Amino acid sequence: MAGQHAEMDQVIEKLTDLLGKRCTTAEAVREQHGHDESWHFPAAPDAVCFARSTEEVSEIVKVCALHKVPIIPFGAGTSLEGHVNAVHGGISVDLNEMNEILRVSPEDLDCTVQPGVRRKQLNEYLRDTGLFFPIDPGADASIGGMASTRASGTNAVRYGTMRENILCMTVVLPDGRIISTGHRSKKSAAGYDLTKLYIGAEGTLGIITEVTLKLYGIPEAISAATVCFPDIEGAIQAVILTIQTGIPVARIELLDEVQVDAINRYSNLDLAVKPTLFLEFHGSEAYVKEQAEQVSDICSEFGAQGFAWTTQVEERTKLWQARHDAAYAAIALRNGAQIWATDVCVPISRLADCILETKKDLEGSFLIAPLVGHVGDGNFHLSFVIKKEIPEELAEAERLNGRLIDRALAMDGTCTGEHGIGLGKKKYMYREHGEAVDVMATLKHALDPDNIMNPGKIIPDQAAE
Ligand SMILES: Cc1cc2nc3c(=O)[nH]c(=O)nc-3n(C[C@H](O)[C@H](O)[C@H](O)COP(=O)(O)OP(=O)(O)OC[C@H]3O[C@@H](n4cnc5c(N)ncnc54)[C@H](O)[C@@H]3O)c2cc1C
Repeated sequence: MAGQHAEMDQVIEKLTDLLGKRCTTAEAVREQHGHDESWHFPAAPDAVCFARSTEEVSEIVKVCALHKVPIIPFGAGTSLEGHVNAVHGGISVDLNEMNEILRVSPEDLDCTVQPGVRRKQLNEYLRDTGLFFPIDPGADASIGGMASTRASGTNAVRYGTMRENILCMTVVLPDGRIISTGHRSKKSAAGYDLTKLYIGAEGTLGIITEVTLKLYGIPEAISAATVCFPDIEGAIQAVILTIQTGIPVARIELLDEVQVDAINRYSNLDLAVKPTLFLEFHGSEAYVKEQAEQVSDICSEFGAQGFAWTTQVEERTKLWQARHDAAYAAIALRNGAQIWATDVCVPISRLADCILETKKDLEGSFLIAPLVGHVGDGNFHLSFVIKKEIPEELAEAERLNGRLIDRALAMDGTCTGEHGIGLGKKKYMYREHGEAVDVMATLKHALDPDNIMNPGKIIPDQAAE
């Protein structure tokens, strides 16, 4: 929380000398930078700095390092586990003014961007080149934030996550040094993989100031489909068989009946209120048709009705916008409510067990929790619709979340497939990783001995001591 550091006034004075009005202590700006889109209670930083270059980020970090003041990198603020909350006060470094696309190489299928570039901005820029960047978290997140949370989305089943799609990055270290984590070559066996170390580090090891991304050709044909099932087990079994058959679906998303009802109301759709799959296929006209027919046959085996597919851009866009708005549709189910969003991921062979046990658990609860998931990867989400000022509701969400995570871990899964750890999942780190957490704490200490980079995130308190 703000006001915890004796030398803060000096730090703010130095940063104001460096940045002028781009270092601000205005309450509204501090408040906006003290929370993400999660239920976690906000904690405002002491000041917010708007950086414009790697060199400027380095200078900001050097000032903070000298005075041992926390630094919290800030992208679009759409994370879901309290990632940007300034729980120990400090300086929020907002990267939104670093939003240039620096270079696109169609011949190498890659590009380099500043961290404040938003995913939709990048794809609009790329459209005329015939290329696109596939990673699509529901929100219009920044590339720096997506790299730092190891984000993914609906396309990951075909194109992978941020982990598979970053070639190298420029990073400002906790002491202000600037490094490049690698080069643009597709492969490298040269030393430790620092690129991967920084993907998913949630700003705890440094600030990313440039990212080199892989790009893909826009497919010749794209078709989308919806199909509903009499029960959720049929829908999941159809997903498992589709993946095991090796059909290269570009998207395969499950929505349970509660989530379908929510998006019908929110996005003005009229889908049958039943467990439903949203699918997308990429390829040539003929190949897209072939994939859709194969998946339609599989779905029929599991009792599906009404496999409807389209290549119309408007219909596809409406469908996927509704899917991306699923969280807002969940919030709209109850006046004045918020959501506690959580996600787990399990091996695909355990997906049915994990979802069915979870649905059973939810039946015994007084909370509503729509289920939606990137099920082709074994990843699904719950949105507990809560009023966080009601302690019984928070406690119930906490209980159900804990049981969900235990279930996923018992199935050789993970406590988060894509949202990350932040504040909310720190307590599950030992359960998932055991002694490996101590190795993470050792790495953190080696790179950031004064614990100034986004302190209080990822590493559980007992390991950080
Ligand atoms: C409606 C909705 C749907 C979502 N759907 C998905 C989904 O499908 N898949 C998914 O993966 N996520 C999803 N998310 C979560 C969120 O969008 C992602 O975690 C996203 O990657 C966060 O990016 P951001 O720019 O908002 O980062 P922020 O929230 O600003 O920051 C996230 C973390 O990264 C750090 N950080 C930010 N920029 C940098 C930088 N340049 N250098 C170092 N550290 C940095 C921050 O300190 C923080 O720890 C969803 C969120 C919402 C609200």
